[in-house]
Amino acid sequence: MQFHFDVEAMVKVGVIGATGAVGQRFVQLLAEHPWFELVALAASGRSAGKRYGDVANWRLGTPIPENVRDFEVLPTDPKQVDVDVVFSALPASIAREVEPRFAEAGFVVASNASSYRMESDVPLMIPEVNPDHLGLIKIQRDARNWDGCIITNPNCTTIVMALTLRPLMRFDIERVYVATMQAVSGAGYEGVASMTILDNVIPYIKDEEEKVETEAQKILGKFDGSKVKNADFSVSASCHRVPVMDGHTEAIWVMMRDNPTIEEVRNAFRTFRCDEVKGLPTAPEKPIIVHDADDRPQPRVDRNAGRGMSVSVGRVREHAGGVKYIAMGHNTIRGAAGASVLNAELLVKKKMI
Ligand code: NAP
Repeated sequence: MQFHFDVEAMVKVGVIGATGAVGQRFVQLLAEHPWFELVALAASGRSAGKRYGDVANWRLGTPIPENVRDFEVLPTDPKQVDVDVVFSALPASIAREVEPRFAEAGFVVASNASSYRMESDVPLMIPEVNPDHLGLIKIQRDARNWDGCIITNPNCTTIVMALTLRPLMRFDIERVYVATMQAVSGAGYEGVASMTILDNVIPYIKDEEEKVETEAQKILGKFDGSKVKNADFSVSASCHRVPVMDGHTEAIWVMMRDNPTIEEVRNAFRTFRCDEVKGLPTAPEKPIIVHDADDRPQPRVDRNAGRGMSVSVGRVREHAGGVKYIAMGHNTIRGAAGASVLNAELLVKKKMI
């Protein structure tokens, strides 16, 4: 049982993009959150004005939480949403225009969209990895004259990889290769037609490799009080869509200048912890779970480890100049909604909300 902080008062939150694949995960995770009270759901003009239970094509295997089923879906407009934090699950093209309007109006925007991840004054966060990057929020507010802010979490593929690279940074990472097997839920509810993906593998995911090849260096970079200096390793990615519902699996090769042994690498994974996330309700006890069996991790078996927030690792083997291993994480929980919720929890703990 984890120790939880007492918050002085529940923080009122809303979800924008609440009807989509990630938006539904937000609703599921927030409906009974001990610190956050979910009071507003917004989506496009197609859904606004309708009952949430009628427009969310709910597919999560648990019933739509009763306390939100009858919510009227709001338009995505800061004037119509009365909360402290909005969790954004908007498509990037929409988020680009909408999220600054919320931040300017004083909201904390915890975003899943890629639109602002790589901007130099926007934190791209994994709380166990780079909690100090929260310092960018003050710089962002000063530069943009916002009362609110935008805080982002990584792409669902990057986060699985970056979390496992963090404990390996001590061995001086030089180069990373990754080949992914990504679940269909990563493409959103309407993302891949069943006739395209069943009995098939699609060897291309638009814009995905570019994100995986650039985000990890920012996340693992050093914050010097004014900016983040990117970590200096390179990443080369090949991304593929496979007929799995949830859970991205990744084959990762890491070349390190300090040549650690396999046991040192397994031990670094196994002992990886971060004090900053102690007491956060969504933080898993173990960010990385190491498997001994040769046939693990598997998405169907391991995706819900740590309530979907742990990344599972297995098959750590030797490779010239480094190691190779398999990593797997839940793409809509650790890779999306759960990641944003954990970011917001860290802000509460730091009294920044
Ligand atoms: P999705 O299933 O297509 O859902 C999109 C949501 O945005 C829906 O609620 C939709 O509302 C709303 N929306 C669309 N156009 C809008 C507009 N003009 N104004 C206001 N709302 C609008 O997409 P998703 O997979 O949940 O992804 C959401 C975001 O998270 C994307 O930026 C994606 O890249 C990112 N992300 C996804 C994953 C994942 O695993 N799926 C992981 C990490 C990050 P209507 O239902 O009313 O159209």
